[in-house]
Amino acid sequence: MSHILVYIAATDGKVKRSSLEVLSYCRRLAADNNLKLSAAVLDADPSRYTDTINQYGADTIFTVKEPVFANHLNTPLIEGLSKIISESNPRLVAFASTESAKEVMGALAARHQAGAIPDVASFSLNGDSVEAERPVMAAKVLSVTSSSSPLVMVSVRSGSYDAVEQAGSAEVQEVAFDFDEGGLKNILKEVISSSGDKVDLSEAEVVVAAGRGIKDAEGVKLVEDLADALGAAIGASRAVTESGLFPATLQIGQTGKVVSPQLYFAIGISGAIQHVAGMANSKVIVAINKDADAPIFQYATYGLVGDLFKILPLLTEQIRSVKA
Ligand code: FAD
Repeated sequence: MSHILVYIAATDGKVKRSSLEVLSYCRRLAADNNLKLSAAVLDADPSRYTDTINQYGADTIFTVKEPVFANHLNTPLIEGLSKIISESNPRLVAFASTESAKEVMGALAARHQAGAIPDVASFSLNGDSVEAERPVMAAKVLSVTSSSSPLVMVSVRSGSYDAVEQAGSAEVQEVAFDFDEGGLKNILKEVISSSGDKVDLSEAEVVVAAGRGIKDAEGVKLVEDLADALGAAIGASRAVTESGLFPATLQIGQTGKVVSPQLYFAIGISGAIQHVAGMANSKVIVAINKDADAPIFQYATYGLVGDLFKILPLLTEQIRSVKA
């Protein structure tokens, strides 16, 4: 029986939530189409991830154990996944839409003459055809794309599906893979973390996002204090990253990161469509803005109309006292 293969992105002993979302959805899709569900994890020590993957109900877990996977490099990943695809012949390969997934998926699709649909918000498999919806024009429009190739690859935007546990009894299949690092054109010399100990923005459960309303270093401190009290990741609008108050890597939106946390604070953000394109999938949105007509309130679950310089210290103090 053919199968749906899900690539599991994992680092530092933790599987990315977005990969578990894709795996959970593909479990349903596989059952509906009478297919098996497989997961692929490539790492220097993939065994540290198999228990977590097994909690999401895969039938088979393909593991590739190779020291080269201790750090993320696209070339060995393409080679390793290509081997799994050639040997196991899946109907569909699904990725979480991470930064590297698009590059890896493109190369794999070209090599295996597969259809490739990147960055989808939803997809389905109906008979011979894979149909997917992709947000376009700053997420104002959903375009429908389909592929009838015998092998189709999709990358799925984070937050499109829920990660739902369903314990399984997966068979773990180790795939033999020898990689000659000498042939690598790119060599990874050092990994420098841009966010130190802080929470990873694209995977965060809670995001505190700053807009132009924070004005200056005093506003930055208030945002950092709130994020710290909540254990949240910090994000920003483009107005803020362009002003240099926060780095460009924290920009959320059409030309920044797409996030889908459980809780999103929009602090002094007007709610321009290009910003909303990156955060509209958040489960609960709390907006703080002094302008009651700011468009962000159209998307907010809870809205606080007022001066953020007065509201944030009180909010942070309350959260700290509840947590203490
Ligand atoms: P503003 O729109 O200036 O809003 C500031 C808000 O703060 C206002 O609503 C104001 O009422 C409020 N405020 C001010 N002082 C206070 C206070 N003391 N207390 C409470 N509230 C206060 N933007 C992105 O964010 N991400 C993107 O990826 C992105 N991509 C873009 C791509 C293109 C092609 C283009 C053209 C634009 C893009 N933009 C993007 C820019 C976007 O259009 C907006 O200009 C930007 O999002 C505005 O940021 P802001 O909401 O922080 O600032």
